[in-house]
Amino acid sequence: MTDQDVWGMTTRIIHGQDCKDAQGSPSLPLYDTTTFAFKTTEALLSVIEGTHEGNLYTRYGMNPTLRALETMLAALEGAEQAWAFSSGMAALSAVFLAHGQQGIVCVGDCYGGTLELMQTQLPSLGIKTHTLLSSEGDRLASILKAGIGLLFFESPSNPTLQIVDIHAMADLAHAYGAKVVIDSTFATPVNQQPLSLGADLVVHSATKYLGGHSDLTAGAVMGSTAMLKPIAPWRKNLGTAIAPVTAALLARSLRTLPLRVRQQNASAGRIAQFLEGHPQVTRVYYPGLPSHPGHDLACRQMQGFGGMLALDIAGQREDATRVAEKLNLFLLAPSLGGTESLVTQPCTTSHHDVDPAERLRRGIGDTMLRLSVGIEDVDDLLADLEQALS
Ligand code: PLP
Repeated sequence: MTDQDVWGMTTRIIHGQDCKDAQGSPSLPLYDTTTFAFKTTEALLSVIEGTHEGNLYTRYGMNPTLRALETMLAALEGAEQAWAFSSGMAALSAVFLAHGQQGIVCVGDCYGGTLELMQTQLPSLGIKTHTLLSSEGDRLASILKAGIGLLFFESPSNPTLQIVDIHAMADLAHAYGAKVVIDSTFATPVNQQPLSLGADLVVHSATKYLGGHSDLTAGAVMGSTAMLKPIAPWRKNLGTAIAPVTAALLARSLRTLPLRVRQQNASAGRIAQFLEGHPQVTRVYYPGLPSHPGHDLACRQMQGFGGMLALDIAGQREDATRVAEKLNLFLLAPSLGGTESLVTQPCTTSHHDVDPAERLRRGIGDTMLRLSVGIEDVDDLLADLEQALS
C-alpha cells in the first residue's frame, strides 16, 4: 500500500504523482501545442501504432497536459481511466454514440439538452431511445429485456433533484446485459462515487463543479479502460477533446473542489431549511431535507447532499420571475456549480426547449426556481432570499 492509497481526496489531488512536474512546478504544466515532433519515422509510427505511449496530436488526446488531467479525473471517481472533453454535452454525445447503438433508456429527469439529444438528434441517427419518468420505473425491465443496451440517468437530477438508486439500477441493467451510465454532475465526486455502487461510466459537465469558477467549458467521462476504449474514436473524429489551456485551468480548479463542495453542501442545507419554512415557498426540492422523497436513499448513497436545490414559489410564473429578478447575490444566469450563487427559472433556461406539456409531465412547473448555491457567506445569501421573497 502506498501513501496515495490512504490519502484523502484533497491530498491526492494536490500531491498525486500525476500532478508532479519534472521541473518542480507544483501546478500542472501547460503544453499548448497541437502537435509533437519526432526524430525518426520509426519512432512516430511506434506511437501511432500504440507500441509505445507518447505524445502525438492534441485532438487525439495525446498531449501530456490532457493525460495528466485525465489521471486526476480518473482518481476522483476511483476509475481506471478518464477522457476529458470540450463540454459536458460532447462527453455525453460520445458516450451515447459509442455505447448506445442498441438503444438507450433514460430514467427520471435530466438536463434539457440531454433530453433533446435523446428525443431528437439520436433518433434521427436511427438510435432508439426511451425517456421514462421516475414513476414509470416498472416499464424498465421490459425495455431492457427487449435488448436496449444502455441505461442512463442523473442523480440528483436537473432540476427536480430526484435521487435514483444507483445500486438497484446497476443490478437490474446488468441482469439484462445492459451498461449503466450516470451523469453525476450535480453530486460531484466529493458527494457520490457511482462506480463503487455499480455504474459502468460516470459523466460530468466539468463546466460546473469541477471547473467551479464559471470560466471554463469542459466534460469528463470516467470508467474502466474497456468501457472507455470505444469512446476514444468518437472523441477523436468528432474533434471534441478538451483544449490544453482549458485542461490546465480545470486541473488548477480541481485543487479546491472538495473545499468548495463542502461549503456549498453546508450552505445549501441551511438555505433549504430556511426556504421550507417560508410562507412564499410552496415546495423545496433538496435531498438533504427529511421531507424529500429520496432523502433516505440519498443518506445511503451520498456523502453530502450537494449545492443545488429547487423551490416552487407561491403564485404564478410571473411571481417566480419577479423573485428571480429581485435577487442580488444570486445572479440570474444559466449554469451552476460556480463560486457565485446563481438562480434560474428552468422553464426559461435549462428546460426552455422542452415542450411545455412534457415539462409539466416531469413536474417542472413554471413557478419553479433552481438555485446553485455558491461559496458566499451563507447569512448574506439568506438575507438576499428573504428580501426577494418578501
Ligand atoms: N449535465 C448536466 C446535469 C447539466 O446541467 C448540463 C448543463 O447544464 C450538462 C450536462 C451539459 O454540460 P455542458 O454545458 O458542459 O455541455
